[in-house]
This record gives sequence, C-alpha cells and structure tokens, in this order.
Amino acid sequence: MEKKLLVAAALLMTSCAFISAQAPMKPEMSEFYEPVPPTVTPGTELKGGGFTAPSDAIVLFDGKDLSAWENSQGGPAEWKVKGGVMTVDKSKGDIRTKEKFESFQLHIEWRVPENIQGSSQSRGNSGVFLQGMYEIQILDNYNNKTYVNGQAGSVYKQTTPLANAMRKPGEWNVYDIIYTAPVFKEDGTYRIPPRVTVIQNGVVLQNNTTILGTTEYIGFPKVVKHGAGPIILQSHGDPSEPISFRNIWIRKM
Ligand code: MG
Repeated sequence: MEKKLLVAAALLMTSCAFISAQAPMKPEMSEFYEPVPPTVTPGTELKGGGFTAPSDAIVLFDGKDLSAWENSQGGPAEWKVKGGVMTVDKSKGDIRTKEKFESFQLHIEWRVPENIQGSSQSRGNSGVFLQGMYEIQILDNYNNKTYVNGQAGSVYKQTTPLANAMRKPGEWNVYDIIYTAPVFKEDGTYRIPPRVTVIQNGVVLQNNTTILGTTEYIGFPKVVKHGAGPIILQSHGDPSEPISFRNIWIRKM
C-alpha cells in the first residue's frame, strides 16, 4: 500500500513538473500565415443592377454574344441576344457551355416576362443542369403552385427548396450555385455523391444538399458515371413566354 502511494506521489510530481516546463500559451501559437488565399477582385456594380464577374471567373455571358455556348448538337447556340440579355428560342432547343466543368461556383440571373401566363410547370420553366446531369429548377413560382420538389430552386423531383424567394414576373432573380462534383467507384456508383448549395436572391434554397442521381421527369434518380460536364440551360416545351438570362459567370473550384 505504502509503495503504491509513493508511486502515485512520484507520478503527480512528475506531471506537475512537465506542465510547468511547457511554455505558456500565446495567441500566435494558433495562427498561421501560409498558404495565402489568392486575391480575387470582386465585381463592380452594374448600371442595370447586379455586379460584374469577379476577376478569376470565366464569363459565360456578359450581354454581348453566345460565343461560350453551343446547341445540343455542338452547333452554334441560336437563342436571341438583345439589350444585354439572352432569351430562350424554343424552336432551337437547349444550349450548353462549350467548356466542361467539375466543381464550381455559378452565378446566373434570370427573368420571366411581366405578362407571363400559364400555371404550375407551364409557367416560365427552364433549368440549370450541373455537369449536364442534374437540374436545378427554374420556374416562375410567384403565386404559382406546383409540386414542391419541382418548384424554383428544387433539385428537380428530388429535394424541395428551403424557401420560396421569388421576385415578381418582370423582375430579375439571381441564382448563386455552389456545386461539388461526385467521385465515382470503379463500379460506376458514387463513392462521394454530388452536392449543391443554391442561393436565390440572397436566400438559401439548398444547403449542401446531396444529389441522389439524375433528375428524371418520369421515374427516380439514376446513378450514371460521368466526368466533367457542361452547364446546360433548358428550353422547356411549355407554351408560356420564354425566359431570359443575363450576367452568367462561373468560378472553378
Ligand atoms: Mg425545368
């Protein structure tokens, strides 16, 4: 017993000595200076509202032309460009970026006409396809009900947005989309599924949401192995007046 007490006392003395031997903590012990994040100059304010692209972004549409885009056959993109705005031409189908992307931050502004008609999915329907595979819904949901996992900002037919942050028809809506590309296993299933954050007009609609697979109109998500892919903008077949886009840029991550 006495021996055990002696050992315990010796241990206690040793640990006290160890603690007092350590240097006292200082603020700079938990601060580091490398690597320095790159400097990105934010965009400047535009006359018609919004901001130009940050300095390290790839500009996909700055109001001038569709040179960054092609149609789904690889031919020229033929949507209308006028007054700094591109407008869907339903007779020409979807358009996609010529460049393919992995993970990114995408900024895109969209507007449905003030006099838009139609209801549910037939009212200002378009969409942004991430890596050409996964649709973030674009729809006029200002006083327009539809299935909630198909409303604006949904991962189409998968995940309902956290809010309805629509501006009125005729006003510009802004999507900021942060997307993390999936990692696949050898067998073609996800090792790490794709994830997406969607902010509309400053309101979070998707918060690092797991994408389950392709966004099917009929049926359930499919897991399909893919690599880098384009941004596709949807030309939807509904009879409502076509939607317009402006100020589109992307930052690779
Ligand atoms: Mg759509």
